[in-house]
Amino acid sequence: MSEPDIELGKPRDLGDGIHSIAVPFPNNPLGYTLVYVLDSDSGPVLIDTGWNAPEAWQGLNDGLHALGTSVDRLYGVLITHYHPDHSGLNWLVKENSNAWIAMHPADAAQLRLMKEASRGRGGWDADGFRRAGASAEEVKQLADADRGMRVPVPPDREPGDGELIDVPGRKLRALWTPGHTPGHLCYVLEDAGKDGAGRLFTGDHLLPKITPHIALYQFDEPDVDPLTDFLASQTRLTDLGIEEALPAHRKEFHGVADRANEIIAHHEERMDELVALLSETPITLWEATSKLHWRRPWDQMPVFQRRMAAAEAAAHLRTLEVRGQARRTPDDEMLTYIAV
Ligand SMILES: [Zn+2]
Ligand SMILES: [Zn+2]
Repeated sequence: MSEPDIELGKPRDLGDGIHSIAVPFPNNPLGYTLVYVLDSDSGPVLIDTGWNAPEAWQGLNDGLHALGTSVDRLYGVLITHYHPDHSGLNWLVKENSNAWIAMHPADAAQLRLMKEASRGRGGWDADGFRRAGASAEEVKQLADADRGMRVPVPPDREPGDGELIDVPGRKLRALWTPGHTPGHLCYVLEDAGKDGAGRLFTGDHLLPKITPHIALYQFDEPDVDPLTDFLASQTRLTDLGIEEALPAHRKEFHGVADRANEIIAHHEERMDELVALLSETPITLWEATSKLHWRRPWDQMPVFQRRMAAAEAAAHLRTLEVRGQARRTPDDEMLTYIAV
């Protein structure tokens, strides 16, 4: 836990009929997901739910009780994105309330894919790791991984970009910010903020001090470029004229545009680092990833972190390909890159 004034399960009053509850995120260095509770004329509306674990469910309920309400009185649930630290508890909210659940259609599609993968179809396959250059031992460990996580329930509503959300007595609008996930939504509370400037729920799109994971999870899925989407989604925030961010991790902060610009600069530096690694000799995704600078050195990274790192490097390489600064070798056998 990195924020001294945040206590798990204890709500904080952020003004404008907004409270945050730090819902425990067990076994993760982030410590908690900030779930926001927004007052409306028809009952409280949640923004995100938290990770699917008993202590998280307890924390969410404790927080709601401290606010004089409870899960069964919720009017709706807005999910910023499908990741399980945000949507994980939505099935329990659904079982215990009449609340609708909303999520962007592109993330609803991701949940359907996860459901298929959990039934043993799709998802990671050993050959993808091998082609990316992972060692035989790494391939074995990755392919044997447990996929037995409960998949969050699909949404009842699928708001699109710019849509005004059904929150009676409030003015809340969806802002589509793809990149971290294809259907990531920020939400703009237009009836709040200093001088009516609005307040922005940023999910994982804009976080203080940490940068969200941008990844090509299958390493070479065609026709997608999440990093370019993400950078455009950051630029979008710089044009909003909103000062304050209400993120899903850490804590609220001021300076939306400045933080967005910092995050853009960070990814540009990562791409420069990758370009410097490329030459006329093909390099596998795995080798390229191992040569990048990471907070935890590559040789100390568990294999699952290596997979995440490789997926992140793959997203940056894709953007470089699109920009004409890197090239995949035509060799279909291995996933290798060369300089342009
Ligand atoms: Zn996320
Ligand atoms: Zn998150």
